[in-house]
Amino acid sequence: MSHVHVIGAGLAGLSAALALTEAPGCTLTLHEAGPAAGGRCRSYHDRALDLRIDNGNHLLLSGNHAAAAYLATIGASDRLHGPDTPVFPFFDRRSGARWAVRMNQGRLPWWILSPGRRVPDTRLSEYAALIGFARVRDDTPVADMMRHGRLYERLVEPLAVAALNTRPETGLARLLGAVIRETMMQGGAACLPRYPIGGLSDALVDPALDLLRRRGAEIRFSHRIAALEITDGRVTALRGPDGTLPLGSDDAVVLAVPPWVATGLLPGLTAPDAFEAIVNLHFRHLADAAGDPAGALREAGLVGVVSGTAEWIFRKSDHVSVTISAANQRLDQPADQLAAEVWGDIAAALGTAAPLPAWRVVKEKRATFAATAAQEARRPGARSPLANLVLAGDWTATGLPATIEGAIRSGRTAATLLRAG
Ligand SMILES: Cc1cc2nc3c(=O)[nH]c(=O)nc-3n(C[C@H](O)[C@H](O)[C@H](O)COP(=O)(O)OP(=O)(O)OC[C@H]3O[C@@H](n4cnc5c(N)ncnc54)[C@H](O)[C@@H]3O)c2cc1C
Repeated sequence: MSHVHVIGAGLAGLSAALALTEAPGCTLTLHEAGPAAGGRCRSYHDRALDLRIDNGNHLLLSGNHAAAAYLATIGASDRLHGPDTPVFPFFDRRSGARWAVRMNQGRLPWWILSPGRRVPDTRLSEYAALIGFARVRDDTPVADMMRHGRLYERLVEPLAVAALNTRPETGLARLLGAVIRETMMQGGAACLPRYPIGGLSDALVDPALDLLRRRGAEIRFSHRIAALEITDGRVTALRGPDGTLPLGSDDAVVLAVPPWVATGLLPGLTAPDAFEAIVNLHFRHLADAAGDPAGALREAGLVGVVSGTAEWIFRKSDHVSVTISAANQRLDQPADQLAAEVWGDIAAALGTAAPLPAWRVVKEKRATFAATAAQEARRPGARSPLANLVLAGDWTATGLPATIEGAIRSGRTAATLLRAG
């Protein structure tokens, strides 16, 4: 392998590029179609709000070990923060009830024995269902895994929608199970919520680009690869904006683009083809200044909302952001209506009478593939039919839902395959 071309500078491409440039003798070019790196996980300046915002709120958990290793490699572990204890506050918009799930740090989950730490009005026996998620291997959807009591409504459903970005009626229980095995089942120490202090790009993207440059990688922005030339089962050239770029006989390619681009570049590739939107709303409002009576947002950095339009409220240094997942049905809803509705949820959750502040609605139409059995069956491995091309991306068969953790692992898997020859 003499030169590697990584196509796509999302987290999968960055992770692959970092793993490849660790090895001596590998030279690398990163081709990114957009003017900046990060893909679906990026920050930018929003003119209407005059704030730097993230395209969407991204939550990591301390048990996301590949993400933690990636951050350590790029020297950015200190660019995430979060509470010292695994705490997840909730607010029920309909009843006004507030509670917090407070796991204990160790692996023995004694928090479920304590009514003050577990979900209110739940029975101990209901929690056994969580073990079922960690064990399920078939195509059972989340909604069919357990009784729809308080535990389901107040914890399992909100977690499932957030982790899978798919409604529980079709969202695959085994993908949620993979997350539960790596976080909840490892104990509270693996469930500390973690968010970027200065935004997604500052934490996860810019330090990776800096390290790649120091390692001699060439990074080309606004460099969309429009076609691959393929001869005798190998990629022999890339077609980009400057024309055709021939590949040497030992050169290789990591294709780290979204699935709808990958299938266009590689005819015959089977990949996910149904997607779910995520809607994020950003409000120019300081949570500290005007309320948060229960201190939940201050303590945990986020509040889950049950039976509202908002699903998760996130506290940022200079604004408040809300996530609505599995949001295909929200795409046609007018932005001003959505902003007013969600501000009602925030105001109730934070106990503020502040009028609707300046807002921005960001609708990510194809935020992730739909985590259904039919889509899971379409996820390919990293290996491709071409001798010198491997695939990476959150949509490849990582065993995880479409997440930062999955994207980073997929990049590492692709690099390992290439290095193995
Ligand atoms: C709103 C939102 C909220 C999310 N929340 C969370 C969360 O809380 N926690 C979590 O873990 N995950 C979350 N995710 C998922 C996470 O962002 C993704 O799993 C991850 O960023 C995917 O990375 P990727 O590299 O696989 O793909 P992408 O980020 O899509 O990267 C692909 C890159 O390829 C580039 N590209 C495309 N075509 C070409 C071409 N022809 N030539 C060159 N380059 C090309 C694109 O511009 C892009 O930069 C969220 C996603 C969204 C959208």
